[in-house]
Parts: sequence; structure tokens; C-alpha cells
Amino acid sequence: MQPTLAPATSRPIHTEVPTQPEGRAPRSAEPTLIVAAADADLSAYLLMAFQLMTVRSNAELAALMAREHPAAVAIDADLPGFDAAAACAALCLQEDVAVLVALSRAEQAPAVLKAGCHAVLMKPFAPNLFASRMGRVLRDRAQRSRWSHVPRNGSSVRGTNRAWETVECPRCCEPDAVGFDFASHRRMWFACLACNQVWIGQRQE
Ligand SMILES: [Zn+2]
Repeated sequence: MQPTLAPATSRPIHTEVPTQPEGRAPRSAEPTLIVAAADADLSAYLLMAFQLMTVRSNAELAALMAREHPAAVAIDADLPGFDAAAACAALCLQEDVAVLVALSRAEQAPAVLKAGCHAVLMKPFAPNLFASRMGRVLRDRAQRSRWSHVPRNGSSVRGTNRAWETVECPRCCEPDAVGFDFASHRRMWFACLACNQVWIGQRQE
């Protein structure tokens, strides 16, 4: 079931501007958000108080990362010719950048979760949902809380993704299912990083 969404808007969305991690001075007043998405989809990623830069390829992203040292990167996994999991793995090596991946198919989630992304959003999503999720990831980054933890199965789970000890995979029965997105009516998408199964959980009351 798809969540009910507000219509897309081209207005930037207000989000809280996080502080930089300790020991690193901001390069400018406005932090940089790099977005890897098609032009037609960029309106979903506009944030107030961020300088938005766009890339179309993994090579462009790597070049811009080295030059701009962004606070955050948002990746549309459907961007043609772009390898979202490879980008997450490369960005994972730069611990100060927050990485959000937008997916149209839940089956794309295990690869980017394993590659270390900090947040996943299922498409389509309302712009204010992107703003709130990115704001939360950036606050976690600033505070170093819940930024990264390792569940019993040894996988690395980061950012707003969370491993649930009590949630077992319906296919392979492994615990520590990773909740990676909230759908409508308090239902959560889960992924099993052992066998790559994805499913939507029961409604939480
Ligand atoms: Zn499984």
C-alpha cells in the first residue's frame, strides 16, 4: 500500500540546520547538499538553508565530494547510469557526510543498507518528509548518537535505519531485521541483510 502524499511542490522546505561535528569548522554559512537525481525529480530534494548541487554520475559525485565537502548527499536509486550502492560504499569512507537514498522498489534497499547509507525513503515521498528525515540524520550526525551500530549478525546499520532484534525474516528466520522506512498508518518496511528479503511490517498500534 502506498502512503497518501501531498502534491509535489517546488518550494524549498524548511529544515533545522544542524551544527557541524566537533572539530570541523563549517566552510560557509550554508551547508551543501549534493543530489544525484534526474532534473524532473529535483523538486523533491529542495531544502531551505542548504546550497544544492546536482550530479548525474558516480564520477561527478566523487569529484564534487572532494571539492565541496558536503554535509549530505541524497541519491535517487533510479537515476539512469548511477550505481547507488557503489556511491554509498564510497561515501561511507567519508564519515562526516550523511547519505540518504530514495527508492522506487523496496528490493533495492538491502544493497544500499549494506553499503552504509544513513536513511532510506520509498518513492514517492512528500518534500516535507525528505526535509524531516534529512534533518534527523544530520542531527544524529552532529551528536554522534545512533550514527552507527552493529547488531548481533555483524552487519553495520547506520543513521535512521535500525536493526530490530525481535523482528525475524519471514524467509530465512534471521533476527535483526532492519527497519528502513515508515509507510502510512505506522507500518515499517524491513530488510533482511542475510538473505535480502524485504517486507512491510504489521501496523504498529
Ligand atoms: Zn532473511
